[in-house]
Amino acid sequence: MGTRKIDALLAAGARVTVVAKEFSPAVKERAARGDLTILRGAFRLEQMEGAELVFAATSDRTLNTRVSREAQRRHLPINVADSPGDCTFILPSVVRGEGFTAAISTGGRHPGAAKALREFLEDHREEISIRLERGRRRKRIAARPGKVYIVGAGPGDPDLLTVRALGLLRGADAVIHDYLVPREILSLASGKAAKICYARRGRTTGHGASIKQRAINEAMVRLAREGKSVVRLKSGDPLVFGRGGEEAEHLSREGVPFEIVPGITAAMGCAAAAAIPLTHRGVSSSVTFVAGHETDERGKSAVAWDHLPKDGTLVIYMGVARVAAIAGELAGAGFPPDTPFAIVENGSRPEQRVVRGRLADLPRIPEEVGIRSPAILFVGRTARMDSVEIFRRRSDPRILRSGGLGSGGFGTRADGGERL
Ligand code: SAH
Repeated sequence: MGTRKIDALLAAGARVTVVAKEFSPAVKERAARGDLTILRGAFRLEQMEGAELVFAATSDRTLNTRVSREAQRRHLPINVADSPGDCTFILPSVVRGEGFTAAISTGGRHPGAAKALREFLEDHREEISIRLERGRRRKRIAARPGKVYIVGAGPGDPDLLTVRALGLLRGADAVIHDYLVPREILSLASGKAAKICYARRGRTTGHGASIKQRAINEAMVRLAREGKSVVRLKSGDPLVFGRGGEEAEHLSREGVPFEIVPGITAAMGCAAAAAIPLTHRGVSSSVTFVAGHETDERGKSAVAWDHLPKDGTLVIYMGVARVAAIAGELAGAGFPPDTPFAIVENGSRPEQRVVRGRLADLPRIPEEVGIRSPAILFVGRTARMDSVEIFRRRSDPRILRSGGLGSGGFGTRADGGERL
């Protein structure tokens, strides 16, 4: 019988008697120490007398089976090595480490696999102990007050999340998200996390927007005070047209700990997806992010269009409904009608579309090609860099060029149109 089993029984306080024709040095040594009794010679049934557990592990299968039958007749639990059919109980192999005990059993059917698993666990004993300790520490931390993470989710492609955002989503107790954050990203959050969205699809304005914002602020504070890890998930970057600053101010006023985790803003995500350089040597040496959708109570734009640089790249975050109005503002501010533009719709997502043209044509674009939300507008000479061939991982870009639309047309490689 294996020394491992004997030692496990001794450790559990059993009184052990070993019957065999010959004994291994390990067994003899234990017998000499008085830890167990040895009986030399052929096995006799009466030796079971007084036993409470029987193990048969001889090399003679017939003898093992006979011992098993006899033990069962006497209602003694019996274990026969490598013969599950003769066992009334099985012995899992046990691996003990600091803070854990693991038992492995394949019901005696796959001893090789059980051994491999045992050896694997033995090799990783320390690592397992460290992980358990970390888990315990995390629980202790969770007992402290909660925290709000104001996290940028990027433009929509889950691969564009930061590693930090992914980690926080996985550990979140609650996720309060914007309607623009796609399901693919939300599904990465912990299954136990409550997922809350206060907005319907589409833009809430005026009074509705302030009610919604108040509800979000209250929910963040309440959940954090319950000790929860709250992820306030915003599309793009939280500090770019995302009210991240207002939410941070609110949390700070309420004394709730928070942290801001940046994300890839739509301007950068969409520029990369459509290969539009935001700056380009000799073409554009500035980039300006503009809120095309921010209007005052009278619907007047909050942007000082006159003061925008005309020789750099403008990136206009916008409500699709405002394309024509924005075109008017740009024209009024003196942007030349042949200034190139590019609209990126659903940037970084499988359904991405890019539409290019000249400012003079911009007012007609929504009608001509039917722009859908979310979409972002690039204006400037960099927006015209369509000589770069784009390869996308997920789907081919559908780059629409409505050639022949007014001044200059939309140059493409094939027609040899003007290029940067
Ligand atoms: N905080 C966000 C912006 C929120 S405002 C960020 O940093 O990106 C919402 C606007 O962002 C939309 O109206 C649209 O103009 C732009 N937007 C967001 N995601 C987009 C996407 N995947 N493709 C194109 N535009 C996007």
